[in-house]
Amino acid sequence: MGIEDIKKKVESNIDSNAEDLIGIAKDILEMPEPGYREFKTSKYTEKQFNKYGFSNVEKVSMTGLKVVLDTGKPGPTVCVMGELDSLVVLGHPHADEETNAAHACGHHTQIAQMIAVGQSLNDPEVLKGLSGKIVLVAVPAEENIEVEYRKTLRDEGKIEFLLGKQEFVKLGALDDVDIAMMTHTGNQKDNKILALGGSSTGSVSKSIKFIGKASHAGGAPHNGINALNAANLALAGIHFQRETFQEKDVIRIHPIITQGGAAVSSVPADVRMETYVRGSSTQGYLDASEKVDRALRAGAMAIGASVEITTIPGYLPMYQNEQLNNLYEQNSIHLVGDEGVDRSNIGRFGGFSTDMGDMSQLMPIIHPSVLSTSGDGHGIDYVVEDYHSAVITAAKAMALTVIDLLHDNGQKAKEIVDSFEPLLSKDAYLKLLRSMYKEEKFK
Ligand SMILES: [Zn+2]
Ligand SMILES: [Zn+2]
Repeated sequence: MGIEDIKKKVESNIDSNAEDLIGIAKDILEMPEPGYREFKTSKYTEKQFNKYGFSNVEKVSMTGLKVVLDTGKPGPTVCVMGELDSLVVLGHPHADEETNAAHACGHHTQIAQMIAVGQSLNDPEVLKGLSGKIVLVAVPAEENIEVEYRKTLRDEGKIEFLLGKQEFVKLGALDDVDIAMMTHTGNQKDNKILALGGSSTGSVSKSIKFIGKASHAGGAPHNGINALNAANLALAGIHFQRETFQEKDVIRIHPIITQGGAAVSSVPADVRMETYVRGSSTQGYLDASEKVDRALRAGAMAIGASVEITTIPGYLPMYQNEQLNNLYEQNSIHLVGDEGVDRSNIGRFGGFSTDMGDMSQLMPIIHPSVLSTSGDGHGIDYVVEDYHSAVITAAKAMALTVIDLLHDNGQKAKEIVDSFEPLLSKDAYLKLLRSMYKEEKFK
């Protein structure tokens, strides 16, 4: 079969299972589980793999899954990813009654897309025309939430990194992968369906504890050490760094005070803060992170308090691969017409962050969006309005792109891999993440 016939076959494979594939997304919507708790979702996803003829499902990390579809001919390996985890959003219409877990980021559609891509390519006639391998992975814990729970898992040795793709890389589960892609949902916009491109910032998160000394706030404040004053000075110190941030680094620092004191009659002795430090380049936000630490120490020192700073690596900045994006764009135009393609994110840094950013430092990736939802992302009203686009159209666009990459002895994939210069090797990446973990105390 020529490439056009292979593509037609793959589209029709997806169309003939459309109802079932959309059903997968809707089933997962009703079993929301946050990161590293996706036990039901993982089991359910494994069953779907089995149903579509994949018996060799490998378990990775706590809840992750991996399937390899081998064409039997040598060539590059292309990975299609789906994220297993939900958020926790009180009051979401599809929230779990007990845990308040809810799919308020649309990840339930990603698992369905991934299965759809896999089943459409798992066809002898299709595989005959391709080379190399297709890897399907269901990854845990994309959302950077429930940090305390994940720190416990880390202490117990169940995970080292708090985010799923970081853990996949560490475990070697992506060592055989050359190119990766994933499609996220985004809000409906005019008549656009598929949105290309967009970069996202990387980040570290910090939890901060100022320790002072309690004393009667009216009778003997001179005997106390006011931890809230230390935190206030530190905040001012952070804000005074802003003139040193350069536009190109897109630095965002947004601290909050989560505990400001125990009782109004007592000098605050235990004040807690949290912040993210985000930026468009790893170097940029690590430099800003140092400045934040400096300001936190200065606040404590001025008042005579002490400060404990815990820094945890978040996501790395995401850069999408242009050549891969161009292939995806052609397939998008085929599926939704030129007017259905949104290019407004190309060349822009979005306000969100994702561990697909980590992947983009290691290999060529794309992370397009399917514009199929309404409401605020991560909010109580974020729901999928158009399941057909979210699952079927999104899956087709990825499957057709896989065909472009692996047809003709994997020529296109080879070209992209050969011209890609990774920002980090796997070793350098793991070393960087490990160096970002810091627990420090200053007296
Ligand atoms: Zn999210
Ligand atoms: Zn998401």
